[in-house]
Amino acid sequence: MDKAILERARQENRTLLTEVESKQVLENAGISIVKAKLATSATEAVAISKAMGFPVVLKIASPDIVHKSDIGGVKVGLQNATQVKKAYSEIMAVVKEKEPKAKIHGVSVQPMAKPGVEVIIGMTKDAQFGPVIMFGLGGILVEILKDVSFRIVPLEKKDAREMIRDIKGYPVLEGYRGQPPSDVAALEDMIMKVSAFVEKNPEIKELDLNPVFAYNKGAVAVDARVVLEPDAIK
Ligand code: ADP
Ligand code: MG
Repeated sequence: MDKAILERARQENRTLLTEVESKQVLENAGISIVKAKLATSATEAVAISKAMGFPVVLKIASPDIVHKSDIGGVKVGLQNATQVKKAYSEIMAVVKEKEPKAKIHGVSVQPMAKPGVEVIIGMTKDAQFGPVIMFGLGGILVEILKDVSFRIVPLEKKDAREMIRDIKGYPVLEGYRGQPPSDVAALEDMIMKVSAFVEKNPEIKELDLNPVFAYNKGAVAVDARVVLEPDAIK
């Protein structure tokens, strides 16, 4: 776990890491993420966007806001500096209106990832079994159909392999109606890395990669959320 990130969480007395912080610790663990950089002004957001290349995505970076898009805190497909500036001020305005007490770090700037099959990889701690990894297909399938599978940490390769194939929606990953198959090996690899990461960092209480975009070649976490154990910030 990154010392500076832990220290800032401690100082601010919070267990939720922002997306920018979460992605940084995950990247250090070798997990494939869409890079996100923190901007603290519209001008800085534009400069980062130009360096990354358009289109970009802007998201509110606040340890008090868990569901960023629910309040209008995510703007995707921004094509130029004018759109980035406008998105920055719109995000700040909507947050001020809907979450006036939220502590704001700034805005997360990141490249727009090309669309893929959306999956979710998560970790929660079970009272009996300790850390468990969850896998499911993204969006509506997880939320309404609860089409997910679980395995206990530490996972073996065979667990990662099986848990992906266990979900009812697995055929979606095999490709259908001319859609190319998703890179299931890359998802297995990501699950194994998450398992190793949470095993090595018991101060993590919860972890959510939601969504991960699975491609014909590779997979990448588009959003990430890490929650620390209360003891970790004492
Ligand atoms: P939250 O889950 O906090 O509402 P997300 O970061 O998951 O916010 O963003 C909401 C949605 O926006 C994602 O499910 C995804 O469809 C889209 N999205 C977010 N970031 C990107 C990105 N970098 N590239 C492409 N689409 C993105
Ligand atoms: Mg999300």
